[in-house]
Amino acid sequence: MNQYDSEKLNDLLEFNGYKQSNNFEESDIAILNTCHIREKASEKLYSDLGRLSKFKENKKKIGKQMHIIVTGCVAQAEGDEILKRNKSVDFVFGPQSFHKLPMILKNSNNDKVYNDFLCENKFSSLIPSKSKEVSKLVTIQEGCDKFCSFCVVPYTRGAEFSRSVENIYAEAITLVKNGAKELTLLGQNVSSYESDVIKDGKKKKIRLSDLCQILSEIVGLERIRYLTSHPIDIDDNLLNQHQKNSKLMPFLHLPIQSGSDRILKKMNRKHNKSFYLSLIKKIKKINKNMAFSSDFIVGYPGETDKDFQESLEVIEKVRFASSYSFKYSPRPGTPSSLKDNFIDEDVSDMRLKEMQSILNKHQTEFNLSFIDKTVEVLFSGKGKKHNQYVGRTPHLQPVHVVSSKSLEGKLLNVKLEDLTSYSFHGKLST
Ligand code: SAH
Ligand code: SF4
Repeated sequence: MNQYDSEKLNDLLEFNGYKQSNNFEESDIAILNTCHIREKASEKLYSDLGRLSKFKENKKKIGKQMHIIVTGCVAQAEGDEILKRNKSVDFVFGPQSFHKLPMILKNSNNDKVYNDFLCENKFSSLIPSKSKEVSKLVTIQEGCDKFCSFCVVPYTRGAEFSRSVENIYAEAITLVKNGAKELTLLGQNVSSYESDVIKDGKKKKIRLSDLCQILSEIVGLERIRYLTSHPIDIDDNLLNQHQKNSKLMPFLHLPIQSGSDRILKKMNRKHNKSFYLSLIKKIKKINKNMAFSSDFIVGYPGETDKDFQESLEVIEKVRFASSYSFKYSPRPGTPSSLKDNFIDEDVSDMRLKEMQSILNKHQTEFNLSFIDKTVEVLFSGKGKKHNQYVGRTPHLQPVHVVSSKSLEGKLLNVKLEDLTSYSFHGKLST
């Protein structure tokens, strides 16, 4: 979502006459878009600020100015604290306030911190993108009401907010006209998307399943994905879409976090292991082509060896196509950060290493099962090598193909011949 927000902020600034630069020395403004989800990501801000303030000081010596701006979830959570910790920061904008930046730069007042919680104003202030990229992100929903006990999102992105269907549709149409063939619908909780439309004088609720159907009718749009969904919000209508909507890709990111019911309860996840496993079974039954990825947290306060083994058992049962796994990081203000039964770093490190080696093994096995198969690949751009193009399969696996003709933006059948690490080399199938 930060990637999407950065693009949107860039569009807004370009509309207001600014130009993007990759060179700090010539920049008048430096913007850091930050993540608060784990401590490591969050602390990165302060080391980056240290480096940036030196640029600012050097510019000052030669009579030039530089504005340093912090946005994103650290800005929302820490506000004034950032200004106190680093005096060279000029403004702090939370994720729901970044649209105000061009106006504040023009008519600066005395306020330095903007951390409004309402998304509505932001979405109506965004500028249509001029991007010609083949695969684009579109935020459809922000915030979260689930309050998992480890997670900072409800405190930084705020309450659940669903963007209007009209607004999303208009953005999708613009992106497809500009050349997009694939849209990934984004949100902290996309499966709880809900927005009203008036049809034949009556109010109708549009959910994620309806949105997938509406967007799939856009001519020229070939692929739809969504990210991230909570297992308890996946309804039968959405499953129905996975069965009949050929534009909806057969790959689902479905975070479980832990395989232990005891830990899931402490995490306030609202689902248990058997609910999760039966959901996976149900989805595979309606579409056997479906593959899954997940998120895992190891070393949650109080996690025993037995709890950890139960996570590994779920991994063995599902055999995810790919997954993310993280060491538990206590986040300020979250209920689990107040616990006192923290797990030893060494134990968490060992558990994470063990889990990741199994997840990686499964990912490789999943990929190897595609060797010599022909799959549809959507090419998004050039690779690093001469005449090389890069694309993705329906299951998001990267594929490299050599071709003297441009493949960019094309959806073509490719025979997957070789697997290096996690990406394939293939040949166009004739
Ligand atoms: N809404 C999504 C997740 C969003 S956050 C969901 O419900 O699953 C992305 C991932 O970061 C989470 O799935 C979780 O695995 C990880 N994460 C969140 N808070 C964390 C913390 N305090 N420590 C470690 N990992 C965390
Ligand atoms: Fe965080 Fe996801 Fe839980 Fe919401 S559902 S609190 S975003 S982990």
